[in-house]
Parts: sequence; C-alpha cells; structure tokens
Amino acid sequence: MENDFSYVGENLKRIRDNVREACAKAGREEDSVRIMAVTKTVAPEIVNYAIQQGMDLLGENRVQEFLSKKDIYLKSAEVHMIGHLQTNKVKYIINDVSMIQSVDSEKLLAEISRLAVKNGRTMDILCEVNIGGEDSKSGIAPEALRGLLEKAAQTEGVRLRGLMTIPPPSDSDIFLGRMKELYDSFSDEFSMDVLSMGMTHDYAAAVRMGSTLVRVGTGLFGARNYAI
Ligand SMILES: *Cc1c(COP(=O)(O)O)cnc(C)c1O
Repeated sequence: MENDFSYVGENLKRIRDNVREACAKAGREEDSVRIMAVTKTVAPEIVNYAIQQGMDLLGENRVQEFLSKKDIYLKSAEVHMIGHLQTNKVKYIINDVSMIQSVDSEKLLAEISRLAVKNGRTMDILCEVNIGGEDSKSGIAPEALRGLLEKAAQTEGVRLRGLMTIPPPSDSDIFLGRMKELYDSFSDEFSMDVLSMGMTHDYAAAVRMGSTLVRVGTGLFGARNYAI
C-alpha cells in the first residue's frame, strides 16, 4: 500500500490559509510572505510529498542530515541552511543551498566568502540575531549587529539579504516586534528584503509583525521523533 501523507497536504493548506489571513489583517499582499518547510528529522519521501503539493522552499538544520537527503529531494524546491553552521562544514553545502540564514560571526562570513569566490558564485545570506539574548541560542547580539552587517556588505561572494531570528518562545510577540524595529532600522541602508521569523507556534503573529519568510516544521510535518 502507498504511504498516506495527505495530512501534510492538509497542514500545508491550513498554513497557507493562516498566512493569507494574517496578511489580510496586516494589510499586506499575500505574496509578500514565503513559507518554508523545515525538514529536520523528516523522511525525504515526506518532504517530496510536500514539494509535490507546491512547497518550493526547504530549510535545513544539520549538514550531515542534509547530505544524506539532498540527492533524494525533488529538484524543484530551493534549499536554505537555517541551522547553526560550523565554519569547517561550509564546504559541504556551498553549491547545494541558495541562502545561508544563520550567519552570526565574521569568521563564518569569511569562510562563506572564500568558498563562494572559489566556486564562482554569490551566496545570499541573512544575519541571525539573538533577539532575546538567550545563552542557549546562536545568533549575534543586537548591539553587535551593525558591525557584522557592515562587514557583510563589503565582503565579496556574499549578498546580504536581511535578518533571521528565533525569538524566545515566551513573550514571542514582544521580541517579534523588537526584531521588526531592528530590521526597519537597517533595511534601507543595507538594501534588505528578507526578514525571516515565525515558526509553528508564532508564524501568524510574525506575519502580522512584518515577517517575509516563515519557517514551519512541526505544523507541517507533525511532531518530530527525536530532539535536535
Ligand atoms: C526547527 C526550526 C524551525 C521550525 O520549528 P517548528 O516549531 O517545528 O515549526 C524553524 N527555524 C529553525 C531555525 C529551526 O531550527
């Protein structure tokens, strides 16, 4: 018997409806927000089902896991790295992702630049901001962000597109608002067009606050089998 992944299609439809509704409430165009499928721990066959339902953007957390799945993925979806990335692993993904959303240090920026130039390409990047100042999270502190943005803007082989964040789960609204303010304070100066925020529990709020890219895992694929 064929596996039945229709729940993924139903979840995707609901997420699209919720995003549309949040856009309407905020007076935004529906196509101003992209929906990303976060694939960690999800079997590639199920990811492919989502791609067949029209999902065109995947988010990967772990290099090792991505390498084991990338050849199985249907090619019609774009892939972004969204997980914490060690400098020595950039070489494994440089030609397989179209954006790295988790840039949070000059060291990582320099390695992405080096490999992008070597491979004759330009890598789109987002700087990840630790908006809640949590010890447990990666991302650069808001106070240090300007320095990293200035560096990124002058670095060859990378194109700075915007900011990404994972706000603290409690008080998410407050931090989504702060993140939008931070984004607005830099977006013109650095020609940004991507604000990546919002996950399963807060994507509708994030859209109302101005997110342009929401990253949804469990809300699309169901609860993960193991922690990551
Ligand atoms: C896991 C993850 C998500 C998705 O989280 P869900 O709560 O499952 O929607 C989004 N962004 C990043 C960076 C993640 O690691």
